[in-house]
Amino acid sequence: MSEIVSTFDRAGPAPARPLVDPFGRTIAYLRVSVTDRCDFRCVYCMSEHMAFLPKTDLLTLEELDRLCSAFVARGVRKLRLTGGEPLVRRGIMTLVESLGRHLRSGALDELTLTTNGSQLEKYARELFSHGVRRINVSLDTLNPDKFRAITRWGELDKVLAGVDAAAAAGLKIKINAVALKGVNEDEIPALLEWAHGRGMDLTIIEVMPLGDISQDRLDQYLPLSMVRAHLNERYSLEDIDYRTGGPARYVRVKETGGRLGFITPLTHNFCESCNRVRLTCTGTLYMCLGQEDAADLRAPLRASEANSLLDVAIDEAISRKPKGHDFIIDRRHQRPALPRHMSVTGG
Ligand code: SAM
Ligand code: SF4
Repeated sequence: MSEIVSTFDRAGPAPARPLVDPFGRTIAYLRVSVTDRCDFRCVYCMSEHMAFLPKTDLLTLEELDRLCSAFVARGVRKLRLTGGEPLVRRGIMTLVESLGRHLRSGALDELTLTTNGSQLEKYARELFSHGVRRINVSLDTLNPDKFRAITRWGELDKVLAGVDAAAAAGLKIKINAVALKGVNEDEIPALLEWAHGRGMDLTIIEVMPLGDISQDRLDQYLPLSMVRAHLNERYSLEDIDYRTGGPARYVRVKETGGRLGFITPLTHNFCESCNRVRLTCTGTLYMCLGQEDAADLRAPLRASEANSLLDVAIDEAISRKPKGHDFIIDRRHQRPALPRHMSVTGG
């Protein structure tokens, strides 16, 4: 009997020269912020009046494809499109479609995205048809008023309809929620039961001090050690080895049977096993989410149609990948740890 193998499951050839940083970490995961723009203005991410990049500074979708493909040729096995809101970039589906060829060739294990869900109703089926199988949807509350207060401009109903559409299209969904002191801290059990009740994992994220948001970070910061302690009073949380290639550490919630992840950049450093780098929509490569050092890949990309200059620039950048970040939120550090907003480098 012949075996049916999915076109998205084939293993590809090993890269000629894998990307290995000075600490021996192989870079296999690229996150790409395809736009810095967004249809929401989440209070922990953006200020209400953001100055966005002029459109002329952006890489074209073809250039983004070329850059991503150069990384895939060097051993990147997982690509995540993010932003800003990736699904508000005009023509984004042509990029998703063209990157899908690396799934079919076996060079890429996964093409995925992080989205606020507002456009999912429109795009869920197309994402699936281009080879996307899992997505992360950011959702911090199920209360419409709180949702509006957190996102400033968002509509909960639209996001929930997007989640339904994604599930109906066959996409596996992970919900990401940022833990916000006094805002959604009481609601985490409700989010957990909702997500697990629909077969979705939930990951809770600590607020990171990125970008000036015209609000005090201390007002927002809720250590996940406290969230976990509260959950422990209600649920049995069992540590499990499950990994998705990202920084989350997972537990199984015995009562729901679902997985709960914690991303704790402040209370617990996640740098040692970091295998990722981040590319912005202008072609700047950040080797660490929590450091300012960056490399310009746009100039070498545009200087030549061949990739040799680009490859040299990528090697040079990876040789500068730092050991880790040093985020801190306390009363002595009232400024953001980094002036750059999360929407520039993506979450
Ligand atoms: N717009 C998309 C979304 O919201 O999913 C993708 C980009 S957004 C910057 C990616 C993730 O970063 C979201 O889950 C968001 O909640 C998270 N995020 C944004 N600012 C953050 C901050 N200061 N600290 C922690 N997480 C943050
Ligand atoms: Fe937009 Fe995502 Fe930032 Fe919210 S977290 S403002 S949805 S980029």
